[in-house]
Amino acid sequence: MKCKRCRRAGAAVELPSHHAAFCPDCFFVFFRRQVTEGIRKLRLLAPEDRVLVCVSGGKDSLVLWDVLIDEGYETEGLYIDLGIDGYSDRSKEKVVAYASSRGKTPIVVELAKEGIPIPEAARCVRMQECSICGTVKRYFFNRVAAEGKFTVVATGHNLDDETARLLGNLLHWQRGHLARQHPLLPGEEGGLVRKVKPLWRVSEVETAAYGFLKGIDYVNEECPMSEDATSLVYKEALSRIEDRMPGTRIVFYQGFLDPSNPLRKGPEAAAADAARGAEDDAGEGVGAPQACAACGAPTYTETCSFCRLKERVRNARSLRAARGSR
Ligand code: SF4
Ligand SMILES: [Zn+2]
Ligand SMILES: [Zn+2]
Repeated sequence: MKCKRCRRAGAAVELPSHHAAFCPDCFFVFFRRQVTEGIRKLRLLAPEDRVLVCVSGGKDSLVLWDVLIDEGYETEGLYIDLGIDGYSDRSKEKVVAYASSRGKTPIVVELAKEGIPIPEAARCVRMQECSICGTVKRYFFNRVAAEGKFTVVATGHNLDDETARLLGNLLHWQRGHLARQHPLLPGEEGGLVRKVKPLWRVSEVETAAYGFLKGIDYVNEECPMSEDATSLVYKEALSRIEDRMPGTRIVFYQGFLDPSNPLRKGPEAAAADAARGAEDDAGEGVGAPQACAACGAPTYTETCSFCRLKERVRNARSLRAARGSR
């Protein structure tokens, strides 16, 4: 099959959802256009932004970093070492190797050194690894962004991630989550940095193809903690639908983002909503954030959820040690 864009070279990537097939060079143009169009449409980034790209070593975040560098954004990569045996080392290697291929050194946060490696912390406080991971990652996104004077944090969530989340929120009628779900979460005075998902228009298959054809070496394995993740069930269901009806995912998500959709509020309203809501450092609090009494990070409660979590882990460790010494 010939490339449908240049009509000369052989097609390397077939995209039924776009009724298209591209040679590698034309696919790069297509993919980058999808990403830049997604950034432009929702005003995710401005040319003067200093972007902190959160890289896990997986394909999505490394591809995101690659595109943003090529598009001329000022970027640095942040790798959070979760302290998962073997997997974390392998992921870090990929991040460091990619960064050095672009003349960069990633910022690395080691959770073991911070006293809160995910698997041990989850065991100590008897919580799901993923929910601890979410709190901890959000904390360091904000902290590293503030320390490094970054104006925005970018993550590699793609269309598959966002539609899986949307389906989950719809199936459980999570109205609050639905109102806030958006590729742009505005920042707030007082320290919560703006967060964006520039890959929201591209699918996982497209991102993987871009990474492969560009020769980006990424970690292939999933995080071992993700085995039970319900998002995988939603992804699988949506993949089945997409196979039978190509293009459904993007229609589903774009329809959701449409400003006339009553289920969704605009990013500003979502931020205001977040400011009225509960007590989470993701941006759900009362009024403007204040400084955490323990670490100074922005929070809506006296101490931030990261410090509270760390305290619980510390207490559980001491209790265990006391029991062990008896
Ligand atoms: S699967 Fe869970 S533990 Fe692993 S990186 Fe994702 S959120 Fe963190
Ligand atoms: Zn071509
Ligand atoms: Zn704190």
